[in-house]
Amino acid sequence: MSTPSLATSGSLLQLENMELRTLFDGVGAYFFIKNLQGQYLFANQAVCTLFRRPLADLLGRDDTCFFDLQRSPNQTLNDARVLKQAEEIHEREEVYLVGEDTPRVFWVVKVPICDAAGSVTGMCGIATDITHRQRQTQDDIDHSEMLNAVLSNVDAYIYLKDHAGRYLYANAKVLTLYGRGPDDVIGHTDLELLPTDEATRLAGMDQAVLHSGERASAEEIIVDTEGAARHFWSVKMPLKLPGQPPALIGFSSDITELLQLKRGMEQHRTTDTLTGLPNRAQFERLLASRIEAMPHQPLAVLLFDLDQFKYLNNSVGHAAGDEVLKEVAARIDDCSWLPGPTARLAGNEFALAVTGFSDSEGLRRIAMQVQHLLEQPVRLGPQLFQLTAGMGISVYPADALSADQLVARAEAAMFDAKEKGRGRFRFYSAELGAAVAARLSLERDLRAAQDKQEFELYYQPKIDARSGKVAGAEALLRWHRGGQEMVPPVLFIPLAEQLELIVQIGDWVIATACRQLQTWHGAGLTGMKLAVNLSVVQLNDAGLAARVAEQMRRYGIGPDQLELEITESMMMSDPEQAIANLQALRALGVSLSIDDFGTGYSSMAYLKRLPVSALKLDRSFIQNIDQDAADADLCAGVIALAHMLGLQVVAEGVETAPQRDALLARDCDFFQGYLFARPMPVAEATAYLQQAA
Ligand code: C2E
Ligand code: CA
Ligand code: CA
Repeated sequence: MSTPSLATSGSLLQLENMELRTLFDGVGAYFFIKNLQGQYLFANQAVCTLFRRPLADLLGRDDTCFFDLQRSPNQTLNDARVLKQAEEIHEREEVYLVGEDTPRVFWVVKVPICDAAGSVTGMCGIATDITHRQRQTQDDIDHSEMLNAVLSNVDAYIYLKDHAGRYLYANAKVLTLYGRGPDDVIGHTDLELLPTDEATRLAGMDQAVLHSGERASAEEIIVDTEGAARHFWSVKMPLKLPGQPPALIGFSSDITELLQLKRGMEQHRTTDTLTGLPNRAQFERLLASRIEAMPHQPLAVLLFDLDQFKYLNNSVGHAAGDEVLKEVAARIDDCSWLPGPTARLAGNEFALAVTGFSDSEGLRRIAMQVQHLLEQPVRLGPQLFQLTAGMGISVYPADALSADQLVARAEAAMFDAKEKGRGRFRFYSAELGAAVAARLSLERDLRAAQDKQEFELYYQPKIDARSGKVAGAEALLRWHRGGQEMVPPVLFIPLAEQLELIVQIGDWVIATACRQLQTWHGAGLTGMKLAVNLSVVQLNDAGLAARVAEQMRRYGIGPDQLELEITESMMMSDPEQAIANLQALRALGVSLSIDDFGTGYSSMAYLKRLPVSALKLDRSFIQNIDQDAADADLCAGVIALAHMLGLQVVAEGVETAPQRDALLARDCDFFQGYLFARPMPVAEATAYLQQAA
């Protein structure tokens, strides 16, 4: 078989490029190119499937191989009109494929391909199968509707241009893009149709394809009739015409939306959606590139977290809370004396990068200015809110060299500032770093402590003041960290509360205390009460009373054997909730006492509402009771008042006989302290109790 060509003989239209072929296969219609002799130079996959031949078998053959031309007269006729008269055909064609008895009906668009001199050298065709609509009369088939049906299937811009850039063919999409009719486009160049700079850019790629004789693909930008820049991915191929300068065929897809989507995703990856500020990852990238660009210039990270934002969110609602965050973002972002990048790292945590400060004093002034900026009241509807923030500052290169370390260290300093109170700032320091590291390792070990059975209860006896007999004991928690070092409760209980580990640990304490009571009871040590300390976090846990009841049942503990110690400050956070819980516990019959009385926000008003039976006078009150008359009077007053309210009084931390005597003289009911016994491990405590009994 001779090599098919667009002209009578000779050169080949090479559409071997896979990418271009794939694009044609995707058009959802039959697409083909034939030469002047009617031989196929190209056919897309749809045509190959229709003819049941691979492309290689099809190229160079004409329609005698595929159609029963005798019974398909308008097929032959139409091709002749295109190839001989250079007409453009938009018509319905009824054809019989070889070996088929029923006709197929196609809507075809056939366009002549001309050379530079205007002579037809071949044709390009697109056809869609409308067999199922064949019963409709010709009249029914609205010409332009069908044309649209065909061309809207081709979701791409298809065009042929000659060597001088004149359009030989342009499909409807191209015409719409240019906002022109076919007569204004065919025979014209981009230079006549588009602004000069755009046309020059397009011509650049066209020229490259024509000169190299090779396909090219690239992104192109064309401003559409509405003035919007549209992005295209264009694939262009040379069309070699014998004895003629080469022409080209182009196929462009609009990728504008795709790019927008991609940009949106990029945006999402780098930006906090609420405030539009960079997010943490992006902030660290910006810092890193700043450091890389100017490694010798100091840079500070100011990181702040709004104080009590959770409270604000709960009281005014999340939508209003979001408004506050946006307002804060705008304040720091609009601030002309803060030219560095700003970011929202998380929740109510923001950061800014500061340069151009003279020394730490200069930086301190900037930090104060930022705080001042934040403290300007925010208006939410009729209400004005005053914000404060805890702020941490880290400095490159003194505190850290990498962006993420700088942020982490500023954050550590911020946490420290917040622990000290509202509206503070703190510079990162090596000591703080060490403290943070120590705290992190304490946290890690504390999380594992329960599984490793590192907790133990110590017991400190409570003495009846008048009889001198043991009335009970208080269970005190001990942590043997790493099996040896004993960490005092004041160091780990606040942490356990913060991490909310105290609920589980507290459950263990209650269960262990109940089991110990049962053991002592079995050993004949009856009639004593064991006190267990409760944390505020436990008190806010709705399931607490049920779990206490379960342990009491499990170990057969009567309500008169168990006492729970709570502190007054527990009432402050959520008094109603705490009181509800205490009432549930009281309903179980266990007694409640107020621990550390006199240290917190002592409020006799609360005392009256609480179902408590005892007060534990804090050690600081009785320390000087034997020497200081004012302290002694205060104790006497509290004891008298407590008795009037029907409460018993326990004196804590009794260390000396004179303290004991002074308390006894003022009618104190119970003593607890080193004078009688220290907190002891269970074996020692058991021996003590047995000997005292
Ligand atoms: P607290 O409830 O006021 O416990 C009394 C503290 O005073 C104990 O300290 C005890 O060892 C100490 N103490 C007793 N007598 C004397 C004395 O004569 N002189 C002096 N200087 N101190 C005395 P500890 O065991 O270190 O416990 C400290 C705090 O830890 C407790 O204070 C309590 O608030 C908390 N705590 C201990 N165990 C638990 C527990 O199981 N759960 C909870 N939530 N808190 C606990
Ligand atoms: Ca206590
Ligand atoms: Ca106490």
